[in-house]
Amino acid sequence: MATATTTPQGTKGGSFLLESPRPEDVFTPADLNDDQRLIGQSAEEFVIKEVIPHVKNLEAKKPGLLPELVKKAGELGLLSAGIPEQYGGAGLDKVATTVLTEKLSIYGGFAVTHGAHAGIGTLPIVYFGTEEQKKKYLPKLATGEWIGAYCLSEPQAGSDAQNSLTRAELTPDGKHYILNGQKMWITNGGFADIYIVFAKIGGEKLSAFIVERTFPGIKPGNEEHKMGIHGSSTTPVFLENCKVPKENLLHDVGRGHIVAFNILNAGRFTLGASAVGGSKYVLATAAKYARERKAFGKAIGDFGLMREKLAEMAIQLFAVESMIYRSAGNMETAMASASNNGSENASEKIQNTMQVLEEYAIESSIAKVYGSEMLDFVVDEAVQIFGGYGFHEDYPVCRAYRDSRINRIFEGTNEINRMLIIQMLMKRAMGGQLALIPAAMKLADEILAGPSFEETDEGVLAAETTVVANCKKMFLQSAGGAVQKVQKYREKLADEQELVAALSNIVMEIYAMESSLLRAQKAANAKGQAAAQAMIDAAKVFISDAAERVEHEAKRAIAALHEGDMLTTQMSVLKRFAKRAPVDTIALRRNVAKAVQSQDRYPFEGK
Ligand SMILES: Cc1cc2nc3c(=O)[nH]c(=O)nc-3n(C[C@H](O)[C@H](O)[C@H](O)COP(=O)(O)OP(=O)(O)OC[C@H]3O[C@@H](n4cnc5c(N)ncnc54)[C@H](O)[C@@H]3O)c2cc1C
Repeated sequence: MATATTTPQGTKGGSFLLESPRPEDVFTPADLNDDQRLIGQSAEEFVIKEVIPHVKNLEAKKPGLLPELVKKAGELGLLSAGIPEQYGGAGLDKVATTVLTEKLSIYGGFAVTHGAHAGIGTLPIVYFGTEEQKKKYLPKLATGEWIGAYCLSEPQAGSDAQNSLTRAELTPDGKHYILNGQKMWITNGGFADIYIVFAKIGGEKLSAFIVERTFPGIKPGNEEHKMGIHGSSTTPVFLENCKVPKENLLHDVGRGHIVAFNILNAGRFTLGASAVGGSKYVLATAAKYARERKAFGKAIGDFGLMREKLAEMAIQLFAVESMIYRSAGNMETAMASASNNGSENASEKIQNTMQVLEEYAIESSIAKVYGSEMLDFVVDEAVQIFGGYGFHEDYPVCRAYRDSRINRIFEGTNEINRMLIIQMLMKRAMGGQLALIPAAMKLADEILAGPSFEETDEGVLAAETTVVANCKKMFLQSAGGAVQKVQKYREKLADEQELVAALSNIVMEIYAMESSLLRAQKAANAKGQAAAQAMIDAAKVFISDAAERVEHEAKRAIAALHEGDMLTTQMSVLKRFAKRAPVDTIALRRNVAKAVQSQDRYPFEGK
């Protein structure tokens, strides 16, 4: 079980549940090349020098300031990562794009603005535009001369985006579409030049359109009064007999859902990377404050409970960062291997990119959910470390706390993404792309055969390697039971949302645990155990706590799936998989805290 090794070229989306890659097979931040590091550095410098000094005015929505900063970012090439070079873009690889996103995300308002422009506002044209559309729009979007926005949500249609009421009708002369309806919550709505608008042709066929701000009949509404990200623009967009040339239809009639969902896949991964950047900044701010602030005659950072917070912030951040760069590396390898297979022309490359995004849609949803929840944890603990000052607008953690909350809502709420993770896994399992069913059957045989001598792993984090392998078994045990139950009672898994979410939580924990484990092992192999000790300790704590969470979710799932003798049997099997040696997480967290406090920042940067 869960022992087949794989190379990155062979890594399929979702396959982490079945395979056990070697540490050298995963990409980690230590593998970033000089160019990628330099891109990250320029992005970080830009935000620190050009954006942060204007935060007060940005939060107050000083007219013209935000678009001016977006254009400045464009002049430095920070907007064009996803645009191919022949259309004026930088055509960066996936890893470089991830570093760029992470480092631009120090300030929530700008991170969201950048994501809406360079991600969801631009990529629909990159992936689905005609040659003419690309030539016309991409060079301007690359430099920031024009700013993009993505208009899917409507007052009555958010999660349920296909319930769009916005209509598009072809004019009798066949030259234009006339759009009518209202879009809601549109990031960059107030100043965008290009709106990607979704509307139903004839009230039925959801389709995407490129709408220029100067087209007659499109009008943004007033800025919304939001809880956070005040440094970004969010408005409704009204379409009143908006006249859009026929050639501005994006992709085919009735294929709007394909545009929308592929773009959201990309956006979700980006959001996870952005959460990493945001939380690093907050952790550094909190660590510094903990050193400077005195209580009872000493720095508050000397108190065990403050140290524990700093350590846990770094540990959760480490887990998410490890997942994000592992996924980015897998995506990059898949894209590179597709182009090595001979597909060199631009449209084939774009097709490959989309296939890769789809392949890793599970990992992208995980990045979104786990990243946004980690960021919420980090900002919350930072406010606590700041005490009363954390509750005051003059201190940056107060703003970060408010800015963080939106991430669990947009790009598909975390509830929707939890459902999607399992739906996509099941689809892959049923379609034979992922051998989940044979693995679950093999596990069932193993269970029937009773306890056996398990092979024990050796080396750094050997016990944790076994814990992760056993968590995968707990997932297969719970998921196998769920599939059997729905088949037996002809139920729909989608109607069992609480159960699906429990399974989804297990999947996410496994990806986070294994990514942390492999990264720490890789670091220890490269630099020696002593040099990687703090990272090893972080991985130990994370895996110990995550295994508790996996066991808890598996128990909930199994209790919902079985009864009577079967329940008793399943619980005793679960107990076997959940067996693990106790870990002194208090001592280990102190070690991690030391690493944070010795530099007042996240200690595993670039490692
Ligand atoms: C600041 C901000 C910026 C945004 N930017 C953009 C943008 O640029 N472009 C754009 O198109 N949209 C944007 N959005 C919209 C955003 O994507 C939606 O708000 C989001 O998709 C949720 O939709 P909703 O608000 O209608 O909530 P609803 O869909 O009404 O959801 C309400 C609650 O019900 C839950 N729920 C709904 N359906 C289910 C289900 N099937 N199962 C279980 N639970 C369910 C949700 O998880 C949520 O907790 C933005 C929103 C905000 C607040």
